[in-house]
Amino acid sequence: MSNRFYGTANWQRIAARQLARKPICEGCETAPATLADHIVPIRQGGAMRDAANLQSLCRQCHAEKTGAEKAGRSWTPPKHRGAYSDGSPRDPNHPWFTGPPPGER
Ligand SMILES: [Zn+2]
Repeated sequence: MSNRFYGTANWQRIAARQLARKPICEGCETAPATLADHIVPIRQGGAMRDAANLQSLCRQCHAEKTGAEKAGRSWTPPKHRGAYSDGSPRDPNHPWFTGPPPGER
């Protein structure tokens, strides 16, 4: 990553605030978070300093998400994988909840 922004005191402060606000990983909801992650990557137009574009992640989840982004895939956090015992998906963005695209309704 060639983005010098991550080395700045400004970013360190933003990241520290994010981790203080949400100390548990938002990807798996089990591990302690160690990184503040941009939900929409900056290089994809995500906001750098907006808290709404930040999530706390553990090292494992961050590595998975970064790997998926580099491969051009979307990343499903561990907490959204699989289904509940009634068969409904754990992913709130699953088509089960959102329905078919507007053109197919
Ligand atoms: Zn995690």
